[in-house]
Amino acid sequence: MPTIADIQQGGARQLIAALELDKETARIEIQCLLQHVLGVPKAYLLAHPEQVLSADQAVVHAALLQRRLCGEPIAHLLGEREFFGLNFKVTPATLIPRPDTELIVELALQRLPPNSVHQVLDMGTGSGIIALCIAHSRRNVSMVAVDASPEALAVAMQNASRLDVRNVTFLQSDWFSAFDTERFDLIVSNPPYIEDADEHLNQGDLRFEPITALASGVDGLDDIRRIVKQAPRYLNENGWLMLEHGYNQAEAVCELLDQSGFTSIFSEKDLSGIDRVSGGKLINQ
Ligand code: GLN
Repeated sequence: MPTIADIQQGGARQLIAALELDKETARIEIQCLLQHVLGVPKAYLLAHPEQVLSADQAVVHAALLQRRLCGEPIAHLLGEREFFGLNFKVTPATLIPRPDTELIVELALQRLPPNSVHQVLDMGTGSGIIALCIAHSRRNVSMVAVDASPEALAVAMQNASRLDVRNVTFLQSDWFSAFDTERFDLIVSNPPYIEDADEHLNQGDLRFEPITALASGVDGLDDIRRIVKQAPRYLNENGWLMLEHGYNQAEAVCELLDQSGFTSIFSEKDLSGIDRVSGGKLINQ
């Protein structure tokens, strides 16, 4: 049977060859798989490189590695992903949480003082990351999280119980379709925003994520247009709308916000220095 060190070296080499991962990413992925299979923390792997895997562990590891070599996302194989310091269950029913999306959570929290009792809506919640991170940090906020997909909502609800977050109500809704007279102080969303013809949809992890959570028409803005147009009806006076969007969409999204009557319009950059979230405030209705 192979040792931990054998697997780390051999697995990393295979990942680099099959998926063109860089050395560091391959090393981290193998480490994560091994931690998952052995049920141990990273420090254990570092301390016991000579430990031999049991036959069962070797079989489970080989099967997972094989799936990874065929392109399945590491988050699907592990069944979880860390986001904003919390651990989320991940399945093929939703997007895999991305570090870029932490920006919209931070911007939302900046506008929600501690102890605030605001009503906040997360549209297209997927695995629930945005709604749950906000609700986890602001226990007095009343959060509503909607998604058109019942499968996604099931994952989001499991994440709510896993994190013991109780101030989120989940609702099946195609954007605002389930709402009538409800109004919110803040609406956040990471909607689909990739162009239908974008070749990235056929590459890497994206091939294994729901296309309905990724692509949105010829220019990628179909869903954002719907949200920005309808949002004013569902916002309280001085309420904010904030949207995550593509690397080249800030100008178009700001223009849409302007057309819908928003003021104090802004764009904020993600960790890579790319305009990633735009938003605005609704003053007069
Ligand atoms: N940021 C993701 C990507 O470019 C897309 C997520 C989305 O469409 N909301 O891979």
